[in-house]
Amino acid sequence: MLKCSGKSVLKGIAAGKIYLYRKKEFVLTQDKVEDADAEIKRFEEARQKACGQLEALYQKAVKEAGEEQAMIFDVHRMMLDDGDYLDAIRQKIRDAKVNAAYAVSTTGDEFAEMFASMDDDYMKARSADVLDISKRVARILMGADEEGIDSREPVILLADDLSPSETMQLDKSKILAFVTKGGSTNSHTAILARSMNIPALVQADVELKEEYNGLTGVVDGIEGIFYIDPEPAELTELLNRKKEADQAQAQLERLKGLDNVTSDGRRINVYANIGSVEDVDKVLASDAGGIGLFRSEFIYLGREDYPTEEEQFEIYKEVISKMGGKKVIIRTLDIGADKQVGYFNLPKEENPAMGYRAIRICLTRPEVFKTQLRAIYRASALGTASIMFPMIISTKEVRQIRKIVEEVKQELAAEGKPFGEVELGIMVETPAAAIISDELAKEVDFFSIGTNDLTQYTLAIDRQNQKLDGFFDAHHEAVLRLIRMTVENAHAAGIWCGICGELGADTTLTKTFLDMGLDELSVSPAYVLSVRKAVREI
Ligand code: PEP
Ligand code: MG
Repeated sequence: MLKCSGKSVLKGIAAGKIYLYRKKEFVLTQDKVEDADAEIKRFEEARQKACGQLEALYQKAVKEAGEEQAMIFDVHRMMLDDGDYLDAIRQKIRDAKVNAAYAVSTTGDEFAEMFASMDDDYMKARSADVLDISKRVARILMGADEEGIDSREPVILLADDLSPSETMQLDKSKILAFVTKGGSTNSHTAILARSMNIPALVQADVELKEEYNGLTGVVDGIEGIFYIDPEPAELTELLNRKKEADQAQAQLERLKGLDNVTSDGRRINVYANIGSVEDVDKVLASDAGGIGLFRSEFIYLGREDYPTEEEQFEIYKEVISKMGGKKVIIRTLDIGADKQVGYFNLPKEENPAMGYRAIRICLTRPEVFKTQLRAIYRASALGTASIMFPMIISTKEVRQIRKIVEEVKQELAAEGKPFGEVELGIMVETPAAAIISDELAKEVDFFSIGTNDLTQYTLAIDRQNQKLDGFFDAHHEAVLRLIRMTVENAHAAGIWCGICGELGADTTLTKTFLDMGLDELSVSPAYVLSVRKAVREI
């Protein structure tokens, strides 16, 4: 038996088989080949394998996301049949006598560049696709093709690290818990684990040994320990603790239907955070009063092209309708930093957390922004929708946003498309926004404080950098003062103010937040009832 410590992301216990998830990295090399015909044959076999993978992905996507979403995999398969592309690769192998992976990658780059320089928007968008298919074939050739979860039963996923888009692509029904060597407790992967309501440990002190694959593991998210192949007596004890944890959860379940009210009658809204339609069932099960943060950028991750207005409309419609009139606050896309999306073609940056991201992309790419706003406004006709904007630093940005929102409303009205009343708010997650919150409060209907980024920017500590977790102090007086100031300024202007960052779920601060006068706390569905319990005990 082996005991490894890690940082807990969600307090729960899970037991099951360990599944080693290895990301196979590959470094592209240019090698000379003697037998060009044999190399072309290798290329052909890899191409066939890629077509098979794309067919499987197409079938999975049809089932999980519908025909329209799945189409992209069909397009990719067709591109792998394109005569010009194939000829160019074969010619390179034959003439330059280079290895197939190198020929595929460089041909992919050349075609992508050519597509990107075309005037036609459709052809431009194919640039990312040709890169994608070339990468897929090159990976196969280098023996580094992607790995899914090849197991019939749900497993404990043991990985080096996972990016948000990798996490998105994994089959969630097959994951009992995550254990990663890397990752910080404030990363989006950790947030996703919380929203999936599964125990998870990051920064686990564990080696990724092949021999662990298939062994029994227990993730104790309460103590922050990962047990590999526990002795029978230890396993029995752990399973008993799991039973106790399940019982404590059952106790919390009794709070369903009750108010979030202190013994002296002070009320607060407890809402839930989501990243996808699938999370709504967990919100409803948690008895949250609404959705305080829908991280809409997850709609954009793990796909090959921009989601269309129709696709987004269907998603927002489903979330809003399922919530049956309860408030749904949709945050417009917060792409950038750790949430990278290939088809956005974002430039490489020295300092992405402070870079071209979130509202900065939306305000400079209004067509992308408007598509999303149109979809949200149309869905707002079916329930109670609010919109909030991430990474705001100035009133000028808010005015620019309002102008674009007005244009969208006028366009929809002219087209006879119905929409409802939509509250417009901002995330207060930069020190700038908190400091000028008195001015910003006059421009919007509400504030939602993003404590994850607010802490990162106030303390100048990268939330992704695991080495800094020891310095990352979300209880820092500077952060608490900024929160207090933001709430006071909101109330002075007559608007409401909530918290949607992870700190909202920290029950050691619930009393502090109530004293500050916060109107809402929006937390992962898994924490709704524990926050309710904390409020009711005050
Ligand atoms: C935050 O920054 O606190 C927040 C809620 O947004 P995200 O975690 O998605 O950056
Ligand atoms: Mg943020």
